[in-house]
Amino acid sequence: MLVEPEKNINHQIALHHAHQDETKMQPLISMKGIHKSYGRAVAIERLDLDIDEGKFIAIMGPSGCGKSTLLRCLAGMEELSGGKILRQGIEINDLPIWERDTPLVWQSLALFPFLTVLENVEFGLRMKGVGRGERRERALRWLKRLQLEDHSDRGVDQLSGGQRQRVALARCLVTEPSVLLLDEPLSALDAHLSVRMQGELKRLQRELGITFIYVTHSHSEAFSMADQVVIMNEGRIEQIGAPEEIYLRPATPFVARFLGGSNIIECKARERNSGEIILESTDGSFKCDSKVTSNVSCGDKVNLIIRADQISVTAEAGWAENEIYCQVIGEEFVGALVNLRLETSSGTPIIVQLQQRDMEALDIEIGGGVNASWHPEDGHIINA
Ligand code: ADP
Ligand code: MG
Repeated sequence: MLVEPEKNINHQIALHHAHQDETKMQPLISMKGIHKSYGRAVAIERLDLDIDEGKFIAIMGPSGCGKSTLLRCLAGMEELSGGKILRQGIEINDLPIWERDTPLVWQSLALFPFLTVLENVEFGLRMKGVGRGERRERALRWLKRLQLEDHSDRGVDQLSGGQRQRVALARCLVTEPSVLLLDEPLSALDAHLSVRMQGELKRLQRELGITFIYVTHSHSEAFSMADQVVIMNEGRIEQIGAPEEIYLRPATPFVARFLGGSNIIECKARERNSGEIILESTDGSFKCDSKVTSNVSCGDKVNLIIRADQISVTAEAGWAENEIYCQVIGEEFVGALVNLRLETSSGTPIIVQLQQRDMEALDIEIGGGVNASWHPEDGHIINA
């Protein structure tokens, strides 16, 4: 994490003042070395993750990296192969599903088709042994909150996709959990409805102040809703950070590739002086601002990461400190933007994102040559 020690301490002090109660200083959920394998296949590999109260956490990663397994372990639907899960310091891994306070909403929703909307919402309370009158009253309150009160007597198959989604939410929220787990809950909805539900979910999370742990494969969902994004790869965590931190400074080549829109140039650190680091690659040498770069020593193999929108393209050379002569391979128009695909003489692919009007001014031809350049402070270095 890129938090400076001083800020971190201030943050902890602020937290201490906010919560007089000592027990609230610990994370709401703490996963310690959790491990899950199916036979010889490892789905989660000794993973540590702390989640604070009231946060919206998005978990992302390629298909099969263990996101759903992680949520199912938290929900109590899978037994851990190793490690512990704590809620406010108390171990919950052996508790049954209905005693965990960690309900899960998933894509297929798993509503009961033979029950009405109201009965579906009451179901979670019935499992907890809440009496009939209170059950009904609480379920109706949540149906109202989610604008479903006019549909309470319908079967769930008489609802639209968005309404079914809200029934599934109501069924979880009626138990008033401190954390709600959501596994790609919007992926079955069309694009328009999905965007609307994103807004509703975020608003609901803020109003209720409960923690959402939200698995998605959609960058836009994660980056628009989450306070914190977790990027997973092969059962492990690659990076945790605020959306802008992950977007601006992917910590590993995997994260940079997974998020897309970045260029990765393999280099070796040649020189380090007070203000800058000089890197060397098969495509030439480049300057980096040492302020934006962590602990790199001379001789280290590193990856230089430059975002596609931070590269400029010029017809002539000699304009910038960092410059590579490239061949134009192709162009793709994405609305008002153009993704220009280039290749260096050593074969490194470079992608540049330009405004369409800047592109027109350039007079670019496929197969022709251009100069790609960037400012020393816009490249960031990660150890290879
Ligand atoms: P994600 O949700 O990130 O796509 P999953 O958590 O569903 O990934 O799966 C992680 C890995 O665990 C995958 O390799 C998957 O094949 C495997 N896996 C998941 N559930 C089971 C299961 N019940 N039995 C065997 N392997 C499983
Ligand atoms: Mg999944």
